[in-house]
Parts: sequence; C-alpha cells; structure tokens
Amino acid sequence: MGISPGARSKSRAKKVAAHRRRAVFLDRDGTIIRQVELPRKPSQLRLLAGAAGAIKRLKKEGYFTAIISNQPVVARGILTPAGVVELNEVLLKRLAARGAGIDAFYFCPHHPNADVRKYRKTCACRKPNPGMILEAARRHRIDLRKSFFIGDTTQDVLAGRNAGVKTILVRTGHGGRDPWQYKAKPDFIAKDLPAAARLIGRLSKGRSSVISWER
Ligand SMILES: [Mg+2]
Ligand SMILES: [Zn+2]
Repeated sequence: MGISPGARSKSRAKKVAAHRRRAVFLDRDGTIIRQVELPRKPSQLRLLAGAAGAIKRLKKEGYFTAIISNQPVVARGILTPAGVVELNEVLLKRLAARGAGIDAFYFCPHHPNADVRKYRKTCACRKPNPGMILEAARRHRIDLRKSFFIGDTTQDVLAGRNAGVKTILVRTGHGGRDPWQYKAKPDFIAKDLPAAARLIGRLSKGRSSVISWER
C-alpha cells in the first residue's frame, strides 16, 4: 500500500511517523560474539553468554534488530563481501536456532588504508560514521529517537550518537577500552548484552533505573 504524495497532509505525516518502528542496532564482534581480530571462519564465531536470549527478548519487546558491523577483513583482502555475508549467515542460523531473530545485517567493507584498492576509501558507512544506521532507518522506517545502539567500543558509541539514537556501551569485548578511543560518552553502560536488553526493557516501560557514565 502506497501513500500518494498529494494526500500527504501534516496530520497524516504525523500518523505515519507514529508508525515508525523502534530498533535496536547491534555491533557484532565483542557484543554478540566473542571479540576476535578479523574473524574469517565459523569456528571463530563464539556466541557470548546470554546473547541469543537477549536478542530474543528485544524481538519480543517489538524491536527491529539490525547488526551494524565494520568488517575490515574485506579491505584486508581476507574475505570478499560475499564471504562476510556467508560467514554471518552461520551466526544468524545459530541465533535463529535459539529463537533470536536478526532482521538486517549491514557491514562496511572499506578502510582508508585498505590493501584492496577497490575498498580503499573514506566512506560514510564505516563506524563512527552513522551511514549504515541511517540507511537501515530509511529502508525499514525506523524512528531513530526511539532506538538504541549497543556496542563494545567508543567507535560504536560515537556512531550511535552521530545517528541520533540512545547508546549503550557493554563491558564485553573491548568493553569501552578499544584502541580507537573516540570522545563519546554512552547514555548507559551495561555489563553485557543481556543486561543491555533488560535495561531497554525497563526504559521501554518508563521504569529506568539508570546507570550513567562514571568517568
Ligand atoms: Mg565490537
Ligand atoms: Zn564503508
């Protein structure tokens, strides 16, 4: 069903906006699975404790779930983009087997110093840029103001900030002590993905027991 441009009144636009979905954007490596440098094979995909249950919970709460991942393995020439998708499919199957649905997967294959010339560029999608989040929001009609980004690095936090979503830093993976150290404070800190999902559950119900950045 489409909306003809002529019929688009202000109230109608408001109504449409009200139907935009809430989303939880998730970093992958260090947030859902164990942090590994340049993961390239299925045996390196190790689900973190409780990660599948957390995603299942977010889906139950009605959130659209999308993985947003920088994958410099492509720029390094270790995997092709198709290889990244194939590897990720293994993870999605494992999650699905545990009732945890991921609705979309976005990854950035670029790097400013890429070995593979084709992927050597300063792009808008590589986190901390918000390109992948904004693209997902456009395509899937997501209300960014009601959405979250969960990740384990300051790069994730800044990407979320740049996209205008609420940010949750988890203490798994790099746990905020990533080598990049962008100047970006998360809205919340959680021990791990399950704790982040519980926090989102509380915030969704308006009962926030807020944990704030303590630095
Ligand atoms: Mg990470
Ligand atoms: Zn990119």
